[in-house]
Amino acid sequence: MTRMSARYRGECAVCGNVIKVGDDIDYARNIGARHWMCQPFIEPEGAIWISIGEGYGGQPFSVGQIVHNDPRRVEKGEPLYLYVLHAKKSYVRDDGFSFGVGDESGYVYSACTRAATDEESAPLRAEEQDEAARIAARLALAQIERRIRDDGEYPLAPDTTGLTVILDKRTIYGGGYAWATQPGYVWHLDGNGGDGDNWSSNNVGSSIGRRLPDPDGSLTATVQRLLVEAGLKATDDVARVVALRNSLRYGFYDTPASGGAEEFARQVRAVLAALKTLSKRASAEAVVEAWGDRLPDNWMTILTAESAN
Ligand SMILES: [Zn+2]
Repeated sequence: MTRMSARYRGECAVCGNVIKVGDDIDYARNIGARHWMCQPFIEPEGAIWISIGEGYGGQPFSVGQIVHNDPRRVEKGEPLYLYVLHAKKSYVRDDGFSFGVGDESGYVYSACTRAATDEESAPLRAEEQDEAARIAARLALAQIERRIRDDGEYPLAPDTTGLTVILDKRTIYGGGYAWATQPGYVWHLDGNGGDGDNWSSNNVGSSIGRRLPDPDGSLTATVQRLLVEAGLKATDDVARVVALRNSLRYGFYDTPASGGAEEFARQVRAVLAALKTLSKRASAEAVVEAWGDRLPDNWMTILTAESAN
C-alpha cells in the first residue's frame, strides 16, 4: 500500500464512493485504491450480511444504523433488529434484475451487521409501535366514518351552535373531508363546494354533513383521541388554534345562533392564554400570521395587542 494523491477519478474499494482527482488515497496494484480514511473492514465471526437493491426501495446503509431484518430471515432464526457495522454499495450497469437491483441498472446496497442490543433497537421499536398504532387508529376512524355514512343523520338545516371542526382535510377545490364535534353529536363533513357539485345538498357551510348522536360525549372523546393517535392532528392548544381558524374560515361564527363575533372573541382570548403556556411550539404572533387577512382589521389589532402582553 502506498499513500498518494489520486491522479484519476475512481471508486473506493472499501466504501464504494467516488475518489476525486487529488484525494489522498492508499493504493496497491492488486487491491486498488481506497480513501486513506477507509480502512479495510474485518468481518467479525457470526456477522449477518444484508442487501437491498435500489429498485426495491433500497437506500444506502450507514455504520451504526439500526435496521429491521427481513421477516423471512427472522423466521429462520435470525435476529429481528440489526446493527450496521459496515456499509457498501455496488453499481450494476446491465442485467440488474439478475443481481438484485430491482431495475435494469442501479445500486445494490449491502451491510455487514450483528444483532442489535435491546438498548440499540429501542428507538426503532418505539417508532414501529407508533406506526402500528397510527394504522390501527386510522382503521378505527374509517369504521366510525362508515357508521356515520350508514346510520348517521343528514339534517337539512341543522343548528350548528358549538360546531367545531377538529380536523379539516377539505381542499381549496371544494372537496375533501372534515371531522367536527358539537355538544351531543359527532359530525363527518364531505366538502361539496366544487364547480360541478350540487350545492343544494350542502347543509353545513359548503359541505355535506352527517352526524351521529353522542349524548354522553364518549364518541367525541374517542374521535379526538383517534385523530391524534392516527397522526392526523396535533394535540392540545395547537389543535385548538387550528380548529378555531377553520371555524372562522368556514363561517360557523357568522350566524347569530353560534354566538357570533363575541363568542369568537372569547375563544380567541382563551386560545391566546393557552398559547402563552406553550413553550416554543407556537406563538401568538404565529396565530396572527396564520389567520392573516381572514381576520377583520379590528381582530388583527386585538390579537396583536394581546399577543404583545
Ligand atoms: Zn472510501
